[in-house]
Amino acid sequence: MTKGNINVSVDNIFPLIKKFLYSDHEIFLRELVSNATDATLKLKHLISIGEANMEYGNPQIEIKINKEERTLHIIDQGIGMTAGEVEKYINQVAFSGAEEFLEKYKDSAKDSGIIGHFGLGFYSAFMVAEKVEILTKSYKDEPAVRWICDGSPEFTLEETDKTERGTEIILHIADGSEEFLEEFRIRELLTKYNKFMPVPIKFGTKKETLPLPEDAAEDAKPETVEVDDIINNPTPAWTKTPSELSAEDYTKFYHELYPMQFEEPLFNIHLNVDYPFKMTGILYFPKLSNSLNIEKDKIQLYQNQVFVTDEVKGIVPDFLMLLRGVIDSPDIPLNVSRSYLQADGAVKKISSYITKKVADKMVSLINENRDDYEKKWNDIKIVIEYGMISEDKFYEKSDKFALYPNTDGHFYLWNELEEKLKPMQTDTNGNFVILYATNADEQHSYIESAKEKGYEVLLLDSPIVPHLIQKLETSKEKISFARVDADHINNLIKKEDTSISKLNETEKESLKKSIEETVNDKTFTVQVEDLDSSEAPFLITQPEFMRRMKDMQATGGGG
Ligand code: ADP
Ligand code: MG
Repeated sequence: MTKGNINVSVDNIFPLIKKFLYSDHEIFLRELVSNATDATLKLKHLISIGEANMEYGNPQIEIKINKEERTLHIIDQGIGMTAGEVEKYINQVAFSGAEEFLEKYKDSAKDSGIIGHFGLGFYSAFMVAEKVEILTKSYKDEPAVRWICDGSPEFTLEETDKTERGTEIILHIADGSEEFLEEFRIRELLTKYNKFMPVPIKFGTKKETLPLPEDAAEDAKPETVEVDDIINNPTPAWTKTPSELSAEDYTKFYHELYPMQFEEPLFNIHLNVDYPFKMTGILYFPKLSNSLNIEKDKIQLYQNQVFVTDEVKGIVPDFLMLLRGVIDSPDIPLNVSRSYLQADGAVKKISSYITKKVADKMVSLINENRDDYEKKWNDIKIVIEYGMISEDKFYEKSDKFALYPNTDGHFYLWNELEEKLKPMQTDTNGNFVILYATNADEQHSYIESAKEKGYEVLLLDSPIVPHLIQKLETSKEKISFARVDADHINNLIKKEDTSISKLNETEKESLKKSIEETVNDKTFTVQVEDLDSSEAPFLITQPEFMRRMKDMQATGGGG
């Protein structure tokens, strides 16, 4: 047996750990399961490169509660540690990491600018445990060891008789932390942090009903068996490539992410970058309609399949906070404060990459199926419009995918709008005047009267439209918006009948003639003239009595 002092440069680190991590002490489980996962994946790697000579099998991580003993166990079948490795990794490195942390944050720590998970990894166990044991057997042919520490800088390390490869961490839960002996609480934490971790995690067992064989008797009862309750999906959709996934897979994963969300997402964006940083993920556009309510289901941030946070402000651009889904990047620092995260270079790049990717997706959606895109517009416009007013990079591309619907449900891209409406709606200063309504019902009569004058009215009814209009007016040349019920509308706009060609007298005569020939019925009168408030270049009318007589003949009635 070895006895010794843990190598640490502060007298007692544990009160500090408890103090700084207090608000988020639940992360200890994430840290320990992460270590167990690392140990398992390290073994897998060593086997794959031929450095460890054994079967990988189907290693699991198991979490167990022993209420009588007041212990929580995290057991893995990974590489384990030799006595020397425990000395090195547990007794020294972690402490030097902690020391570095305290050095780095000695000013900011007191005003608790640090949020929960800046993780001290293994040592976060002491936030909830009065004593921690490690039982570990290395994959190397060396004796198993047992390390015990009660939260003082003293530890003991001795040989033990553990025979299976891997590590068991035993937490002797401290007074006041009994919640971590409750099954529901541990399950909740596992679901929150470890739901998509890459190694199967077993927590108890569950009953499963076996399907009946095809030739089963009519009164046969299905058999139920006790199976391991694996709480995670080790290969979530975002770790796969888009070609491996069907539309259903994406929807299924959406519901896996948000089990309480019953609405279907509109579409998804699969993120996959290797350079200049690594990131994968899937973003979903939910149905948003006109509400700006951000529901509680938010984008989740992962680092190597470990949940980090769903407080993504500063990491994804604000306008995309309305989306859902996951972002996973090993470059996102797991364990630092929010202000640090926002200033981080990798995080900034991630943010602008996502913006670009969303813009590109919009372009491909509208090009692939304009009809479908138009149908979805009402549900996505908030995000798009918000993006246009808040992110210049997004705005710059938006002419390709931002739609402007008119009050009759026709959708224009900006260039289409200009092409069709500008000739009709230019004021005396040569500005393209865009009439718009914000509420089709309330402004109904104004809309109708504008339409009678031959104008088109856009329906821009999302709550951020005033900002959007301002953005468009300041960035596009010679345009101005006028709300359809504004009293100065008539002064602002001067209609130019450029769409109705003016005919001279000879042209009128020949048009009249050719129409009369086509109609070939002397009871009709053909008028060709500059008809005012109408787009029709000519009218064909018939005296009322003639029309009635013909109707009667057609129905075979007689007078
Ligand atoms: P980090 O995981 O960031 O390296 P930790 O404090 O969480 O820091 O762990 C320190 C080290 O202890 C790990 O790097 C690893 O070498 C070792 N370790 C911790 N848990 C285990 C485990 N379950 N199996 C094997 N090694 C472990
Ligand atoms: Mg760790």
